[in-house]
Amino acid sequence: MIPMKLIQIDDRLDKDFPELGYGYVSCGMGWYPILKKLIQRVLNLVPNIKIVHIKEKFGCLRFYVTPTSCKVSAAISDFEALSGTVCESCGTQEGVTLEGGWIKAFCPKCRVDNG
Ligand SMILES: [Zn+2]
Repeated sequence: MIPMKLIQIDDRLDKDFPELGYGYVSCGMGWYPILKKLIQRVLNLVPNIKIVHIKEKFGCLRFYVTPTSCKVSAAISDFEALSGTVCESCGTQEGVTLEGGWIKAFCPKCRVDNG
């Protein structure tokens, strides 16, 4: 499945965090609020952190940074787990399930729209 609205997520990241560089970014806009909080959290822990890779796998956010540490990886784990309860497409937490041939976190409507 082709990830949704990739260009917008790149644009939002550039606007909100112009000082950060990014590697490959691929996830739906529904996760942007989670992503933004996660980036703020890791920047508080490591101000010069670099984001290597952001993607979706098995219905959860995957977020790779360098350098990392126990605290950074604990923060990332929290947000990755949270992402599985939020629709990757629209951001709702109503009725979100992890299913499909490609396991994706979608609400019932977005599962139909992206089916
Ligand atoms: Zn949705």
